[in-house]
Amino acid sequence: EPFYRQLPKVELHAHLNGSVSEATMEYLIARKPHLNIQHSMTAIRKGQRRTLDECFQVFKVIHQLIDTEEDLLLVTKAVIEEFAADGVRYLELRSTPREETRTGLTKRKYVETVIEAIRQCKEEGVDIEVRFLVAVDRRNGPEVAAETVKLAEDFMTSNDGVVVGLDLSGDPTVGHGKDLLPALQKAKNCGLKLALHLSEVPSQKEETELLLTIPPDRIGHGTFLHPEVGGSKCLVDKVRERNIPLELCLTSNVKGQTVESYDKHHFLYWYQLGHPCVLCTDDKGVFSTDLSQEYQLAASTFGLSQEAIWELSQQAISCSFAPDGLKKQLYERWALLRPQVL
Ligand code: IMP
Repeated sequence: EPFYRQLPKVELHAHLNGSVSEATMEYLIARKPHLNIQHSMTAIRKGQRRTLDECFQVFKVIHQLIDTEEDLLLVTKAVIEEFAADGVRYLELRSTPREETRTGLTKRKYVETVIEAIRQCKEEGVDIEVRFLVAVDRRNGPEVAAETVKLAEDFMTSNDGVVVGLDLSGDPTVGHGKDLLPALQKAKNCGLKLALHLSEVPSQKEETELLLTIPPDRIGHGTFLHPEVGGSKCLVDKVRERNIPLELCLTSNVKGQTVESYDKHHFLYWYQLGHPCVLCTDDKGVFSTDLSQEYQLAASTFGLSQEAIWELSQQAISCSFAPDGLKKQLYERWALLRPQVL
C-alpha cells in the first residue's frame, strides 16, 4: 500500500549482511559460481519458516559471498539505497567486523569500507541519514568483544560521528553475557550507545537481568521478557523504569519461529503498556521483507489506525542514537511530510 511506502521511516535494527536484497544476492552468486550457492540458501521466502539455528546457517552462506572490500562496498551501498527507496529517512546499520585471510580483508578495513559506503551514498545525494553500530558476535567470546569495542571506540572518536554505538548479537544459544559484561561496560563508559539483543530465546533470563544493570540504551527483540512467555514482572519493570526502547521485528521472529504467529507477537504487550516500541526489519534480505511491509503488518495484525502508525514512525526518532541536532532535523522533516500521508 502506498501509505506505508510514503510514510517517512526510521530503521534502527538492520544487520548489514542479513539485509542484502535478492537482486544483489543474484549478482554475487553469479560472480562466484564455484561456491555453488542458490538463492534459496540465502533467503527465507513468504510462508517459509526455519529454526533459529537454521537462520544462523544462512549467515554463514552469505558471508562466503561477501568476503572482499569490493563486495562489502557494493553491498553496503545497495542496502542503503534500498532502504532509502523504501522511504527510510534515518538508518542505523549494524555489522560485525570480519577478517578474511583469503582476501586480505581486516576488521579495521571492514569498518572503514562500511563508513566509505555511507560517505559515498551521502555524496551521491541518496535521501537518507545513516549511522553505524559496530557489532559484537557473542559466539566469539570476551577477547574478541574487547577488541571490537576498542575498534568501535577508535572510529567513534575519529570519523565524523558515523559510528554511534555497539550492538551485541549472534546466536543467543551460544556463550553467556556475563563474560561479555566488562567489554560492554567499557563501551558504555566511553560514550558508545548500546543496542543489545536480549531474551531472544527463553533460556536467557539470568543473562538479561545482568545485562540490564549496565543498562543498555535499546533492546533488540526482548521476546521472552514478559511473564506471559516465561519472563517476569521484575524484568518488565526494570525495562519500564529505565524506559529502554524495544526494537521489534515481526517477520523475523515469526519466520525464525521464536514467536508462534503474528497475532501473538510481543509488540502488543509492550504497545499496550505505552512503552516505546520501534518496528524494524532485522534482516530484510534473509526474511524477504522491508520496513513498509513491517508497518503494514503491524497495522493489519493489531488494528492500528494510520494516525497510530504515524505516531510509531515519529516516536522512533526519539529512540535513535542520532545526536540532538539531527533528531531535531528529522522531527522537522516528519512535520513537513505529514500532510501528504494522512
Ligand atoms: P553481519 O553482522 O553484517 O555479518 O550480519 C549478520 C550477522 O548478524 C549474523 O551473523 C548474526 O551475528 C547477526 N544477526 C542477524 N540476525 C540476528 C538475529 O535475529 N539475532 C541475533 N543475531 C543476528
